[in-house]
Amino acid sequence: MADIVIDITCPVCGKVFKKKAKDLTDGSVLKCPGCGEQTTIRGTMFTDMDKSVDKGKTWE
Ligand SMILES: [Zn+2]
Repeated sequence: MADIVIDITCPVCGKVFKKKAKDLTDGSVLKCPGCGEQTTIRGTMFTDMDKSVDKGKTWE
């Protein structure tokens, strides 16, 4: 499986950084390289990102 890289926008400072999709699971913690704020990935966030990658899939 090829690595899918997703843009993450920091909710605190607005910096955009990239993470590999396979590293993003529900409950994983990302640290913003801009402000150092830690963001926990939650199911809704992950669903939004997944839709941006694969628009043909829904998680309703
Ligand atoms: Zn930030």
